[in-house]
Amino acid sequence: MNIHEYQAKAILKQYGVSVPEGYLVEAVNQLETQARKIQTDVAVVKAQIHAGGRGKAGGVKVVDSLNACMAVGTEMLGKQLVTHQTGLKGQKIRKIYIEEGCEIKSEFYMSMVLDRATSQVMIIASKEGGMDIEKVAMQSPNSILKISVDPLIGIREFHVRVLAESFGLSTELMPNLDKIIKGIYACFVEKDLNLVEINPFVLTKENVLIALDAKMNFDDNALFRHPEIELLRDFNEEDRKEIEASSVGLSYVALDGEIGCLVNGAGLAMATMDAIHYAGGTPANFLDVGGSASAEMVHKALDIILSDDHVKGVFINIFGGIMHCNTIAKGIIQATQAMPRSVPIVVRLEGTNVEEGKRLLDHSGLDIISADTMDEGAEKMVALIKHKEAIA
Ligand code: GDP
Ligand code: MN
Repeated sequence: MNIHEYQAKAILKQYGVSVPEGYLVEAVNQLETQARKIQTDVAVVKAQIHAGGRGKAGGVKVVDSLNACMAVGTEMLGKQLVTHQTGLKGQKIRKIYIEEGCEIKSEFYMSMVLDRATSQVMIIASKEGGMDIEKVAMQSPNSILKISVDPLIGIREFHVRVLAESFGLSTELMPNLDKIIKGIYACFVEKDLNLVEINPFVLTKENVLIALDAKMNFDDNALFRHPEIELLRDFNEEDRKEIEASSVGLSYVALDGEIGCLVNGAGLAMATMDAIHYAGGTPANFLDVGGSASAEMVHKALDIILSDDHVKGVFINIFGGIMHCNTIAKGIIQATQAMPRSVPIVVRLEGTNVEEGKRLLDHSGLDIISADTMDEGAEKMVALIKHKEAIA
C-alpha cells in the first residue's frame, strides 16, 4: 500500500526526522487559510498524488507571495497531472500540500528497501539526488552507494559514517545525520515498510538536514498490525477493480492487454500469461481465484474482468483439484449466462471429473469454446479476437 507525501512526512516527524512545516488543502476554499499559516518568504505548492516525477511535470511549484500561492493552488486543484509514472491518462490532483520553503545547498538521494536476497534492509544513497536520480542510476551506477543493515544489529555508527562520507558531509553534521538515519530505520522496521524513499534529502544553507520529499510503501501482509496505517489508504489512487477483487479474496492485478485471464493458482496464472504472449496476444490482467475456485468466485472474477472495457475475450484456465471440474463448469455456465457484455470465452479445464465438466460446457448451449491444453486455449483465444476484429 502506498500513501501520500504529506502522510509519510507526518509519520517521519513522529520518528524525529526533520521535515518542512506544511498544510494540507483539499478544496479551493481552504486555500487562503492554509496559505496564510506559512511563515517563510517562499513556499512550495505540491500536488499530492501517488506517483513520482511531479517536479518535472509541474506538480511542484515554488511561490514567493500569498497571491502566487493562491493562483498556483487554484490551478493545481482538480487538474489531471501526467508524470512519467502515472501513465498517459495522468492522475487527478485532489489534494495539495503547501510547505514552508527552504534554501537548498545540496540535494541527496536516500532510500531504504527490504532486500529479499539478503533478508536485510538495504540503504541506497547518492550524493547526486533530486529529480534526475534515474539518469544517475543509468549513467553512473558507481555513484550509488548500497549498505546492507543486519536487522539483528540495526543501525550503527559505522553505517552513519559511511553515509556521511558519501554525501560529503562534515563531521559536525554527524549527530544530525545519525538521528535521521536511526529515525527512518526505526520507522521502516516498526511500520513494516517495503520502501521509504527520501528524494531529495537536503542540506540547507543553514546547515541542517531535512527530508524534502517522502514516499512510503507498506507490506500489505502486515497491514493488519497497523490499523492506523490502513486509515491512510486513499481509494482514489488505487485501481477500483483491484480493490473490489481484494475485498472478496481474489488476487487481481490490472494490466493493459486485451485478454482477460481467469486462473486458479499464481503459478498457473503466470504460465497462462506467458502462453497468451507466446500465442501473440496480450493479457488484460493477472488473476488468481485461489486454490478452491468456487462457483461464486468464478462469477465474481468474471464480473471484475469484464468491467475493464479493454477486455475482448476471456481465457479461463482452471485446474480442478480440491474443487471438481464439474462444479467449476457449473460456475462458468452460471457466470457466462449473467455476463454484463458478450465476449468470446475459451475454457481449458483439467483435473478431477474433467470429462463431466467438459460435457456440461459443451451442452450448455452457450458460446464457450473448450481447449485441451493451455497452449491450444491461448491460440484459440487469440485467433478468435483476431477473427472478430477482421469481420468488424
Ligand atoms: P517529485 O518530482 O515528485 O519527486 O517531487 P519532489 O518533492 O522531489 O520535488 C521536486 C523538486 O522540487 C525537488 O527536487 C526540489 O528541487 C524542489 N523543491 C521541493 N521543495 C522545495 C523547497 O522547499 N525549496 C526549493 N527551493 N525547492 C524545492
Ligand atoms: Mn522527489
